[in-house]
Amino acid sequence: MADGFVADGFAPLAFTPDVEAQTAAMWDKVKHHVTPLEWRAHAPLIAEINRLKREKNAVILAHNYMTPEIFHGVGDFVGDSLALAREAAKCDAAVIVQAGVHFMAETSKVLAPEKRVLIPDLRAGCSLASSITGADVRLIKQRHPGVPVVTYVNTTADVKAETDICCTSANAVQVVEWAAREWGVDKVILIPDEFLARNVARQTAVKIIAWAGRCEVHERFTAQDIADMRFAWPEAEILAHPECPAEILEAADFAGSTAAMNDYVALRKPKQVVLITECSMASNVQAESPGTQFIGPCNLCPHMKRISLKNIYDALVHDQYEVTVDPGVQVRAKLAVQRMIDLPPPLVPARYDLVKAKHHVDVELI
Ligand code: SF4
Repeated sequence: MADGFVADGFAPLAFTPDVEAQTAAMWDKVKHHVTPLEWRAHAPLIAEINRLKREKNAVILAHNYMTPEIFHGVGDFVGDSLALAREAAKCDAAVIVQAGVHFMAETSKVLAPEKRVLIPDLRAGCSLASSITGADVRLIKQRHPGVPVVTYVNTTADVKAETDICCTSANAVQVVEWAAREWGVDKVILIPDEFLARNVARQTAVKIIAWAGRCEVHERFTAQDIADMRFAWPEAEILAHPECPAEILEAADFAGSTAAMNDYVALRKPKQVVLITECSMASNVQAESPGTQFIGPCNLCPHMKRISLKNIYDALVHDQYEVTVDPGVQVRAKLAVQRMIDLPPPLVPARYDLVKAKHHVDVELI
């Protein structure tokens, strides 16, 4: 067969003129990252997935770290994990397919318990989310009574259920300061990302108790990587994610959440840019910023990369794999996420300026 393939006994999916026309606008966005040959395999799946979504009243929530053919081809809502969870709660679809990792699907289920949430591959985990359990949080609370617990959204529903309020990298400083004020204390537990906690501690007078969880993608970047990039590409502006170690943020030109990096590129339109984060993010931002040259380095998240067009297609055809959350856990986890959502959103996503930071107090690591 020249084009397309037989999907588990289903009719062959072929790159017909009709498929080509249906997917032309998407091809235009991804053509710098996908070869014409690859597109002949992707496009029929994209057309079929988009047809199945309409038939099954389903939407696809695609994280910024999805590959471009998923992000631009089938994502109904795209963004960071919190933006996606908010869309999960707002949309009127009966089925949500989470093109992301398991904790994101759980967060969608927590905010939209009446909807059927599917994840295309149950093995799509996260090193940060798996670094801590609900039982760990209960022990931490016993050791630090009266200290509010702020949890990064990259956690399981069990962990969120033990939490006072959630945060993202875009609002972590704001949430930590809010929690300290509300509880009338000078100390906050911020878990589970050690590097995010250390980077937040530099931005606030609130003392931070942290957990030694790490994102396996962002922890791999080193100051030497930045020095090498500066030497090779002296004109390039370097943007880093706050899940990276502080030495990376100190050496970068700008540090902020994926949303903040997106805004930076869209507004400042740098000639050359390096995004110190997951690889696919650069490909997806580039489609909207054709005048900017995106340069490596590039680390892939193996968990995000478990999601493919093929297993999204299978998820819709076979109605698999459903993500459930215990109702008692769902109610308590929702409270923690909702508290964060109810805070006034930051005017702009937080910038982590460690060079100008006034606070040099390190965290207390549990
Ligand atoms: S990039 Fe890091 S935080 Fe995100 S899913 Fe992968 S391991 Fe988890």
